[in-house]
Amino acid sequence: MLSAASANAILFQPVELQAECNKGYVKVRQLGSNPTSIDSVVVGKDNVVKMKPGQQLHLVNQLYQYTLEFKVDPTGLHGGSKRPREPTLDDRDGHRESPNLKAAKQTDRVSVPVNHREATKTSEHVGHWNQGLKASMHDPQMQVYKDDLVVVIKDKYPKARYHWLVLPWQSISSLKALRDEHCGLLKHMQRVADQMIQKCPDVHSTHFRKGYHAIPSMSHVHLHVISQDFDSPCLKTKKHWNSFTTDYFIESHDIVQMLETNGRVTVKEGIIELLKQSLSCHMCHKELATVPSLKEHIKSHFPR
Ligand code: AMP
Ligand code: ZN
Repeated sequence: MLSAASANAILFQPVELQAECNKGYVKVRQLGSNPTSIDSVVVGKDNVVKMKPGQQLHLVNQLYQYTLEFKVDPTGLHGGSKRPREPTLDDRDGHRESPNLKAAKQTDRVSVPVNHREATKTSEHVGHWNQGLKASMHDPQMQVYKDDLVVVIKDKYPKARYHWLVLPWQSISSLKALRDEHCGLLKHMQRVADQMIQKCPDVHSTHFRKGYHAIPSMSHVHLHVISQDFDSPCLKTKKHWNSFTTDYFIESHDIVQMLETNGRVTVKEGIIELLKQSLSCHMCHKELATVPSLKEHIKSHFPR
């Protein structure tokens, strides 16, 4: 729920917020002409912009700031599934929802008063699967390394023999929120990833890549560190495969370079189409008809 001030404190309402709890975002509509922005994106009068957890809503020419945060519902009654489920790339695309999510769909309308001076949370609502990394990064069972800036966790649904995620403690919702001031942090994430690789017992017999999904499904910036054997029961779909073996997987140093050059990360329009591409081996480019036949084929490149 929104932490809104009492009704008599409401002077005027610059925005209308509509929480799409099961989709993990809030729709922000600017009602008046007072400038409203989400991070650096200007909303504009009568326009609607989606706001994701960790993003900042600036009202009235940046006079008031709110950060969006969804809270996990401990009862598990409000939306989402109680049983952990891997978020699929389909979920992200919005092409398919699980029956569970459909049944639990709910929409809340809320308004924020502008004289609520403190920086407050704009929403404290039910947990959504795309918030799962935030729980995992604080879970000692999942952590394999941490320092002042970052934590490394095991990917909960690893797509290869070794698959870690490096996350900054700093709340950065996605690649879109990155700016040139984050370059140092991203370089540190890369160094930590390299250390993980060096410590891996199979470092001399396997190859690793470090990178980001162009359009991640999970909130909170995370660097994938993944061995190239793709030998895992969790790798099940064409989308899984293509997300790690096509240009949909953007090398970490390319992201840093983009930030250094342009001050932000942009991904090519239509990049999502790469996920539909036909299956081919990332080692020898042989085309395979199905994921099981591809997985069988790549065993020859990475004998145990
Ligand atoms: P993406 O957002 O597409 O870059 O990928 C998110 C990664 O997070 C996937 O490799 C998932 O297997 C992994 N994942 C999903 N949920 C969790 C979780 N709760 N804890 C740890 N890893 C997760
Ligand atoms: Zn091959």
